[in-house]
Amino acid sequence: MGVKAHRTHLEIPLVDSYIRDVPDFPKEGILFKDITPLLQSAEGLRKSIQGLADAVDPDTYDTVCGIESRGFIFGTALALELGKGFVPIRKPGKLPWKTESESYQLEYGSDTLEIHVDAAEQGDRFLMVDDLLATGGTMSAALTLVHRIGATPVACAFVIELGFLPGREKLGDVPIHALLTY
Ligand code: AMP
Repeated sequence: MGVKAHRTHLEIPLVDSYIRDVPDFPKEGILFKDITPLLQSAEGLRKSIQGLADAVDPDTYDTVCGIESRGFIFGTALALELGKGFVPIRKPGKLPWKTESESYQLEYGSDTLEIHVDAAEQGDRFLMVDDLLATGGTMSAALTLVHRIGATPVACAFVIELGFLPGREKLGDVPIHALLTY
């Protein structure tokens, strides 16, 4: 029995009881989805990584790409689980080598993400991973960076999607997967 058949057989649901709602964090009016209870639970962590592994056929991508910092947690665990490599997209000034950089708008002000220019061979297929899709600004900037270094994002996978925000619309025609939608 292959790994995939084994996973399908288990039919693992990711229960939302692992996600803690924290009102007014980091500022008033934001309902923060805290994933630390999920990480703290051996079962929750395993289910979330298996859920991400099941969401997108691993034969369709070469490398997992995660966004700082919670995308690193899920992305590296997923890469290890599937025998893939991992590429980090980081906040500005953190990567030591030559970078491409992309700024994007936040509700107030802007933010920037960076990737190493040599993080991909031309045509490498990337699975993009982050913990949560909200407005889509973060992932949209990440997709731009991945294109710019010559890789192809084949899909985006999130643990959580805030379905009441138009994040999906920002991500063009890249398929989007989320284990939990609110
Ligand atoms: P966005 O660019 O609006 O899609 O925001 C996505 C990024 O911000 C992700 O890296 C999330 O970790 C973080 N984020 C945005 N909104 C929330 C929220 N309500 N709870 C937890 N994290 C959030």
